[in-house]
Amino acid sequence: MPRLSEVIAVLESLWPAERAESWDAVGTVVGEPDQEVVRVLFAVDPVQETVDEAVRLGADLLVTHHPLYLRGTTTVAASTFKGRVVHTLIKNDIALHVAHTNADTADPGVSDALAGALDLRVVRPLVPDPTDPEGRRGLGRVCALDHPLTVRELAARAAERLPATAQGIRVAGDPEALVRTVAVSGGSGDSLFDHVRAAGVDAFLTADLRHHPASEFMADRAHGPLALLDAAHWATEWPWCELAAAQLDEISDRHGWNLRVHVSKTVTDPWTAHAASSDGPSPATAPPRSASRAPAPSDTSGAPN
Ligand SMILES: [Zn+2]
Repeated sequence: MPRLSEVIAVLESLWPAERAESWDAVGTVVGEPDQEVVRVLFAVDPVQETVDEAVRLGADLLVTHHPLYLRGTTTVAASTFKGRVVHTLIKNDIALHVAHTNADTADPGVSDALAGALDLRVVRPLVPDPTDPEGRRGLGRVCALDHPLTVRELAARAAERLPATAQGIRVAGDPEALVRTVAVSGGSGDSLFDHVRAAGVDAFLTADLRHHPASEFMADRAHGPLALLDAAHWATEWPWCELAAAQLDEISDRHGWNLRVHVSKTVTDPWTAHAASSDGPSPATAPPRSASRAPAPSDTSGAPN
């Protein structure tokens, strides 16, 4: 049975802390190095729901993608929600370890897992890490589809293969355009638009796209028609938990550790419902503003998946 320090050393070899962005906060947040580890849970978010899941499982270690504390703090009082997380972890002898931007750029990393979930063939990183002589590490991935799909079909595949969220998949651009190459980036991707244009792909699948960057990206036709597919942030990063769990499982087998490695089933996407507005009035047919009321949501149960 390995000690926490031994398991952490393995996690550090997969996702070295020095490969994280300078603003990031990765590594071990809570943990007693000599404690023995049997059960490990991987999750995207270090929130009370996933910590409670770790408690129910009897986990000794929770590994999350997002940091608990990204900036400094002066309190872990249980009256704060992050302090409550820390208290729950310590009271239940559960360690917390974070692999964030060091897992984004890893080989394999967060966007490899996203590409794998969608059956996309990874060609290269979207933004290669200049310190990797093999050119395999870096942010995002440029992928090929062995059988081209329309944007609509690719969005349907993403909605089907990624864990279900209220948002589902939003599309910008011609839904019937054919996609042969697509860039993917798990998590917030609108800072990567210049790289996506330079990659010359047919589409970009990511999360957290905002009005102005998306609108300006779509208006710039100099690089040919491009489609945007916007998924829920949590859903684009969750496949990494399965990939990471498989990586740790394999290492555990090699060491004869017999770790029990789990992937969180808790949906921690903050959005809980979606009201489709396709049947509502368009601005051209809507009654004058003074007389109008907000169109009734046509479907509050939401979720085109
Ligand atoms: Zn993220």
